[in-house]
Amino acid sequence: MSESTEALLRVEGLSTRFFTEQGQVNAVSDLDLRIDRGDVYGIVGESGSGKSVTARSIMDLIESPGEITSGEIWYRNGELAAAVEDDHGHAVDGSFVDLLEIPERVRRSLRGTSFSMIFQDPESSFNPSLTVGEQLAEAVEVQRRASANPRSTRARTRSEEYSLGSFVLSTMLPSKRYVSEESRERAISLLELVGIPDPVERADEYPHEYSGGMLQRAMIAQALAGEPDLLIADEPTTALDVTIQAQILDLLDELKRETGMTILLITHNLGVIARMCDRVGVMYAGEIVERGTLADVFDDHVHPYTHGLLGSIPDVERAGGRLEPIPGNVPSLLDREMGDRCRFADRCPKAMEDCLSHPPEVDAEGSDHHAVRCVLAERSYDESRALPDDYFGEPDRPAEAVDEPQSDDEPLPAERTQPTLEDAGGDGS
Ligand code: SF4
Repeated sequence: MSESTEALLRVEGLSTRFFTEQGQVNAVSDLDLRIDRGDVYGIVGESGSGKSVTARSIMDLIESPGEITSGEIWYRNGELAAAVEDDHGHAVDGSFVDLLEIPERVRRSLRGTSFSMIFQDPESSFNPSLTVGEQLAEAVEVQRRASANPRSTRARTRSEEYSLGSFVLSTMLPSKRYVSEESRERAISLLELVGIPDPVERADEYPHEYSGGMLQRAMIAQALAGEPDLLIADEPTTALDVTIQAQILDLLDELKRETGMTILLITHNLGVIARMCDRVGVMYAGEIVERGTLADVFDDHVHPYTHGLLGSIPDVERAGGRLEPIPGNVPSLLDREMGDRCRFADRCPKAMEDCLSHPPEVDAEGSDHHAVRCVLAERSYDESRALPDDYFGEPDRPAEAVDEPQSDDEPLPAERTQPTLEDAGGDGS
């Protein structure tokens, strides 16, 4: 965890909805998040839990029929606060600015400079008809123009050298895709930074000449072009094989150590979370249901969903154990199908009568940084109040418990014990 605990981003009460023909989909509901400068914050959950919509909401990438319907996204940037205070005083709180209350034009200018995003599928993120070097140089050029434009907020925040001549050329000749020599050189140094061998030659190659891992590195280079305050990595290793996954995680780790970069990491993989993150938010059905430090969530978790996720991690040390899938499916999030109950209740092995009203988020006992949206944070499980198994109808059970690979020399262990951070590949610290 970073030594400073200065918040870089505070998300408060964020709700993002999609208005579809089938009805209103509540993809993200009343979500709170705090990301400290220099930290890696992980959001983990199954597909359809709202992780990527959260990231896209922060990046202002929600498109119709989607809409951020309520909430605040406070970003710490003193220069931006000073620049917008006169016209948008209500959007400023000290050095924080509420991104949802400033003009679209200003918000857009923060993409790539203040916030960058790397996506799951690098192949669809590059233009196949331009070389990787050209595309990177263009990304650098855009940031350099932003820095050089005397009217931009960024010009006041960066002292980067960019000649007035280059700026004038770039604005007069946009159709010529003017890219300065400095931007080309910076593109090559970015390729070198992310570990692309022979970056000068590689810069002249097209995306199809790169392997999946190399392209993912190039996408990280592109995201770093604007030296963003926050890098959002949405499932950055999902499309890669395990060896390349490890290399990309090493690279992100190294970049974090070298640059002090803040990262929001979105993944369904608890092993990735255990390895990379300082803090974690477990997301289910559009809500963060448990959050805290890595140790809080892995070793002292309260929410049955967190327990279920951890229980489904294969344990290579104990070959022959059983993986326990969580029965049922993530709910549709259609407004008309969401009752006012705990959203996990139909899958929860500890559902009680108390869970039929929507639980608020409360601090876990004795902690002000470990919060849980579950009645078990305040009371013990009471079997006499348990809901009958068929209360919500017959659950759609995807599978029986799955046997882990069994080694010849090890007997089948007794029932799995409480999963821990160490199980997930973390160091337990
Ligand atoms: S509130 Fe009840 S149903 Fe929901 S996760 Fe907690 S125990 Fe399970």
